[in-house]
Formats: sequence, structure tokens, C-alpha cells
Amino acid sequence: MIECKQMEKLIPQFLDDDLDNQDLSDFLDHIDSCPECKEELTIQFLVRVGMQRLEDGNTFNLAQELERELTEAKKKMHRRKTLVLISYVLEISVAALFALCILLTIAL
Ligand SMILES: [Zn+2]
Repeated sequence: MIECKQMEKLIPQFLDDDLDNQDLSDFLDHIDSCPECKEELTIQFLVRVGMQRLEDGNTFNLAQELERELTEAKKKMHRRKTLVLISYVLEISVAALFALCILLTIAL
């Protein structure tokens, strides 16, 4: 699947927290529905996070941590989307106010 090849490339960026909203959204959707990519993500997560933990001498529950990571990413994406929406609404409001001012200037 072409999509899987693309998603594989996004895994390191996901782990670096380096995806924009659109990519993150596609990535999370795909991970939810594709066991192979989820496994690949798990492996890369293990290599990256797990090895560090082992060096630190900490115990950890990999599956649980990855789930938390994914949940956090979804929350963050949701927050970002809300922010985008808010700034959009604000822009519209400013534009509307501006238009109103012009109308008032002309009318008065
Ligand atoms: Zn896939």
C-alpha cells in the first residue's frame, strides 16, 4: 500500500513531535486502522524511547506509554484545531467590525 510507505516516513517525525496538523491527523487515522504501521511505530518507539529508558535504568510499560503518546497526540491535535478555529472566528469578527466601521463612516 502506497499509504503505508508514506506513513512509515512520518513515524520518526511523529516521534519528534514534528508533524503538522494535517499529517498528524492522517497519521493517527492510519495508525488506528493499520496494524502493520502500528507495529512499525511500536518498534521505532521502542528503539527510541525504550533504549533511553533502559540506559536510565527505569522500568516502563512500552505498550501503555505508546498508547499514552497517541492519546496525547490526539488531544494536542484537537487543541490545535480549536485554536485554528478560534483564530478564524476572530479574523472574521475583525473583518466584520472593519466592514461595519466603513459602513458607518459612509452612512454618517
Ligand atoms: Zn499502514
